[in-house]
Amino acid sequence: MTATRTYLDCNASAPLRPAARAAMLAAHDAIGNPSSVHAEGRRARAIIDTAREQVAALIGAKPSEVVFASGATEANNCVMAAGWEAICVSAIEHDSVLAPARACGARLIELPAGAGGIVDLPAVADALAHAAASGARTLLSVMLANNETGVIQPVAQAAELARMHGVPLHVDAVQGPGRLPVNFAELGADALVVSAHKLGGPRGVGALIVRDGVNLPALIRGGGQERRRRCGTENVAGIAGFGAAAAEVARETGVAARIEVLRDRLEAGVTAATPGAVIIGGNAPRIGNTSCIAVPGKSAETLVIRMDLEGVAISAGAACSSGKVGANSVLEAMGLPIDITHSAVRVSLGPETSEDDIAAFLAAWEKVAGGAALAA
Ligand code: PMP
Repeated sequence: MTATRTYLDCNASAPLRPAARAAMLAAHDAIGNPSSVHAEGRRARAIIDTAREQVAALIGAKPSEVVFASGATEANNCVMAAGWEAICVSAIEHDSVLAPARACGARLIELPAGAGGIVDLPAVADALAHAAASGARTLLSVMLANNETGVIQPVAQAAELARMHGVPLHVDAVQGPGRLPVNFAELGADALVVSAHKLGGPRGVGALIVRDGVNLPALIRGGGQERRRRCGTENVAGIAGFGAAAAEVARETGVAARIEVLRDRLEAGVTAATPGAVIIGGNAPRIGNTSCIAVPGKSAETLVIRMDLEGVAISAGAACSSGKVGANSVLEAMGLPIDITHSAVRVSLGPETSEDDIAAFLAAWEKVAGGAALAA
């Protein structure tokens, strides 16, 4: 293992921003329960209120629409568990949407995404028309940008279709903030989900954004926190770190564009070193930090392990299943052939990624997957 590491797995978890760390340390020193009426409690409450404003401002929501939770997984579960009779869901959603949607007893209509990685809008229209005609209490769920391919989904058009059929829309926007502008008010969604650790906040905290006037039952009950929409004493430090990270992202200009240039340079280097490599979703609109690369004939698992040994952290498939490298369900849902799904790795950059990181990646890639490696 080399001493210097190159971390290119920001879609799994981005490094903690120093501002978030500082806010968390300060919050840890603010004692008291935020629901207590004494000065200590009010001080802890004020920390949460500030963070609520910071998160709301980043994504164009009202502070009253922000419900803090233990992460995007919980927030997605909360939406899926709201008693739907039918759920129309894109087949490329994260497992924290698909698994509860499959388990909640609603009729599930999985909407295909073609090989380009974009959910099929005519299929969305069809599914909504059928569900609405049946009179079933229906939800539509379409993510903002896919975590594996980075492909941006046609959420505005999906919102328009949902509105036509009187169906509420849920958007998993976890990979959005910091990578593309997110505006809850303009998007036309009823519920939207974000996660702190994808934007440089801490792990284990996220938010469910619920449009004012929309009534979603709480998943976690018992206590009046978050206006009864998510009970339990709040993770004050985590929320403070989330807020500080959100405030920093909101202030940043030009970062996403700089990262996209680096990502494109990385892909050009990969294609030169590995002429058979396929950039999945490469022709679709993508967030600029993500690259999903398949090298037919190679195993994704081996590529990830060998890159790790060279000091470079990348991933294959979502990292959420106990560190296992398993089948890539997103790519399978796109109908891609097995030599692609089994050989695809994801490289995801963050605001701290430098030209040196790209050079380190390409040097390692040349060794692991380049012409000499293939001949060996
Ligand atoms: N949705 C998407 C699109 C994600 O990428 C992730 C994280 N891998 C999640 C949901 C789950 O987020 P959290 O880690 O906050 O539970």
